[in-house]
Amino acid sequence: MTDRFVLATANRHKAAEIAEVLAGLVELVARPDDVAAVEETGDTLVDNARLKAVALVEATGLPALADDTGLEVEALGGAPGVYSARFAGEGASYADNVAKLLTEMEGEKGRSARFKTVALARWPDGAELVAEGVVNGTITEAPRGNGGFGYDPVFVPDGGDGRTFAELAEESGAAKHRLSHRGRAFRRLATLLRTDET
Ligand code: IMP
Repeated sequence: MTDRFVLATANRHKAAEIAEVLAGLVELVARPDDVAAVEETGDTLVDNARLKAVALVEATGLPALADDTGLEVEALGGAPGVYSARFAGEGASYADNVAKLLTEMEGEKGRSARFKTVALARWPDGAELVAEGVVNGTITEAPRGNGGFGYDPVFVPDGGDGRTFAELAEESGAAKHRLSHRGRAFRRLATLLRTDET
């Protein structure tokens, strides 16, 4: 089976993290700049990951790797979930989304949340492998740390030392990936790729 994939994500933070997690495990080809951004119109993380992977397979003829991630906050009934990128509205910045989350969580005692990533490999013949990575954690009362991206400054992963993902990423990418949803999903996908006969 081939282990050379084009990376479907157009998000430079995510692309850098995926490349770090898969270093030495899978050969990655950068996403060509001329491929248009894919509209994430799916209702699930798997649907959105598939939309992105299929677009890159069609544009390049190569197998593609894609991912989609959502933050599920218990007190908000699982929101923002699949809508994490546009929680504060279409075109919202990371800071806008974090601000909206903290506002909605004001005074809330139960602050449990989890990140979920679906990592998906797709081949030109339509074959697919899918892996999921989850990390449970807690939403802080205020942002902490300057590393990472997205909701990292307000998420403290279980199994760590109380630092947010943004504080862990400030130390090193590996400190975040060891515990993170994306690290778990892509390490799992790499294991599936090694054992799959596709
Ligand atoms: P996407 O649909 O996979 O691009 O992710 C949706 C949104 O979730 C992003 O715009 C970020 O706000 C957030 N997100 C994804 N991955 C992470 C992460 O590792 N840390 C913090 N936020 C993330």
